[in-house]
Amino acid sequence: MNSDKENVAASTPLMIVVSAPSGAGKTTLCNKLLAEFPDFTYSVSCTTRQPRGEEADGVAYSFLTKEQFLELVKQGKFLEHAEVHGNYYGTLGKTVIDSMAAGKSLVLDIDVEGASQIRNLMADMPDDDILKKGFLDIFITIPSVSVLRHRLLKRGEDTVEVIEKRLKNAVAEMARANEFSHTLVNDQLEDAYAELRAIVLNKAAGIGAV
Ligand code: 5GP
Repeated sequence: MNSDKENVAASTPLMIVVSAPSGAGKTTLCNKLLAEFPDFTYSVSCTTRQPRGEEADGVAYSFLTKEQFLELVKQGKFLEHAEVHGNYYGTLGKTVIDSMAAGKSLVLDIDVEGASQIRNLMADMPDDDILKKGFLDIFITIPSVSVLRHRLLKRGEDTVEVIEKRLKNAVAEMARANEFSHTLVNDQLEDAYAELRAIVLNKAAGIGAV
């Protein structure tokens, strides 16, 4: 019998879009998925925000100036793009197409607006399109806004004002959770990961892991 890893590797590549309010544990959950399934690739986005700490160009993000970013928008190079917390972020069409065409599944960590743009694009594509077949959108949420406030305060990365802004954004993002085909609550990390993993394996099994 094939292992879960072999099944995922054998199937049509997945395009796993993950969105969540900041502090919901999205990065941790995506990293766990990427660590367990080495065939999965992280989709490196473009952004106009400044690198934080050790973030290397081309690894965490491709860091662009606003002018460079807007030029790529003008040229229609982005599969989706959005303004998040005052900076531009976008996924290049080439990143997704190159990976999927090579049979490699992709994990996209993007905001709800970007997810919505991709969902709309997929709706207009024929059912046998490789991107549409592999498309999976997951929203990670938190048990309550007070839990999120507590997590963000504990993380200690932001000022109280920034935290309040992030919470306001989180409420607006959570109101769009129902647009996603899957929603999971990250209360206990291991439980949330088990759920995420099951959603991914289920999708892989459904689209051609023989
Ligand atoms: P951060 O600056 O903290 O790395 O990311 C801020 C937000 O931007 C997160 O919600 C993240 O998911 C989102 N984001 C990162 N890359 C992209 C992208 O390519 N497109 C969109 N729409 N959002 C992105």
